[in-house]
Amino acid sequence: MADACLFCRIVSGEIPAKIVRQDDRAIAFRDISPQAPTHVLVIPRRHVATLGEATDTGELGHLLRMAAEVAEQEGVATTGYRTVINTNGDGGQTVFHLHLHVLGGRALAWPPG
Ligand code: 5GP
Ligand code: ZN
Repeated sequence: MADACLFCRIVSGEIPAKIVRQDDRAIAFRDISPQAPTHVLVIPRRHVATLGEATDTGELGHLLRMAAEVAEQEGVATTGYRTVINTNGDGGQTVFHLHLHVLGGRALAWPPG
């Protein structure tokens, strides 16, 4: 665990979060600044900074699967949703613990700005 990492502190319970789903490898919780009616972040329990550093394909697949389960649970699977991984500066990454955004509940614009 990286001590100063915000999302590691959510994993440890040091910082509270509205958890919607979890298992032994991953946690899904509501984004503190939602950009859509459903905005959930799916993260691995272990610290991985960016997508580029995520070399465990099993772990990556597990995170994607949990994102789809969250969409089902949130009732947006059929209406539609978007999964996003922002990476590094131009990608808009602000928290350097790998996370998948799950956004839904409204029509989302494409392409992103
Ligand atoms: P990024 O910009 O790195 O792709 O996404 C980071 C996300 O984390 C942002 O959408 C931001 O609103 C969210 N976030 C930042 N701090 C917290 C926090 O303390 N709790 C929760 N639940 N979300 C946070
Ligand atoms: Zn971390």
